[in-house]
Amino acid sequence: MFIDFRSDTVTTPSLELRQAMFDSIVGDDVYGDDETANALETLASNILGKEDGLFIPSGTMGNQLAILSHTNRGDEIICGANSHIVSHEVGAPALLSGVNVRAIHNSNDFIYSDDILNAIRPSDIHEPFTSLLCLENALSNGTVIPIDIMQQCYNTAKQLNLNVHLDGARIFNASTYLDVDVKEITNCCDSVTFCLSKGLGAPIGSVLCGNKKFIAKARKYRKALGGGMRQVGVIASPGIVALNQYKKTILNDHVNATYLANKLSNLKYVSIDLSTVHINMVFFKINKDGFDPDDFIKHLLHNNIKSNGLSPDSFRFVTHKDITKDNIDYTIDIINKYLAL
Ligand SMILES: *Cc1c(COP(=O)(O)O)cnc(C)c1O
Repeated sequence: MFIDFRSDTVTTPSLELRQAMFDSIVGDDVYGDDETANALETLASNILGKEDGLFIPSGTMGNQLAILSHTNRGDEIICGANSHIVSHEVGAPALLSGVNVRAIHNSNDFIYSDDILNAIRPSDIHEPFTSLLCLENALSNGTVIPIDIMQQCYNTAKQLNLNVHLDGARIFNASTYLDVDVKEITNCCDSVTFCLSKGLGAPIGSVLCGNKKFIAKARKYRKALGGGMRQVGVIASPGIVALNQYKKTILNDHVNATYLANKLSNLKYVSIDLSTVHINMVFFKINKDGFDPDDFIKHLLHNNIKSNGLSPDSFRFVTHKDITKDNIDYTIDIINKYLAL
């Protein structure tokens, strides 16, 4: 058994989730007959305070269905330069929706109301229509945007007639960090995607939520992209169990991330900014003469610890339901001994 810090996507489903899969009542979801998928969509949209929901295989598909449904070809959309939509979705906004991306560059990856005012296109005949603002919370850099900043962005977007899509892959990590009901975050968007397959611990899937008209359109586009799945209750059922239990799981992951970050900060040669540890992600650097990151990762792997390097001297460790406090103590001990060599 490996201790796997690469991502919160690496969890394997618990017995309870597997039992739910075994017991799931299924039908043909393309006919709207899969009771379990329907129940998941209703549960998710209730929790997120939106009219309707759509079960989808991945967060990427959710974001792309949102862009397809909110825009026309040739439009421009405003996104963070390091957002998942821009950096990790294979150029899909251009590939699928034919839209142009206006990327916002801020060192903390936030988007502020002023950025939207600066990025919106005037009605000049040479310029594209701006039709959508995409926000992300929690951010891929592991930090969480406060509600007031999201609210200001939403207000500005609405004044400018933009729709707002939230990539909330880790929205429950954000709401847990902010200690608010998740609806306080989703009040600041028209549509939202979140992942069941990350900190929630389900094996597959995401849910896209929004108003009924938007979801009906997205449901058609999901079919067009080959995402019309059939007896989908088999994979929707663990999502229901996971969604009903997220509070405990996510809180525990955050406690473990803080524990790991504090332990790392005490190690010689490790530099870490504890103020950026908001959710289940710990970013740190190692500054030691002659330090070889590939050898470090190999050494960890040799000791049954899987991890990813981000850049030559920087690392991201992610906590999740399959990482325990004992795993962290063991890992710290291995890193400490390695750095002392
Ligand atoms: C993981 C993630 C997604 C979606 O990823 P999939 O692997 O397609 O499910 C989207 N946005 C962010 C910020 C993510 O971290």
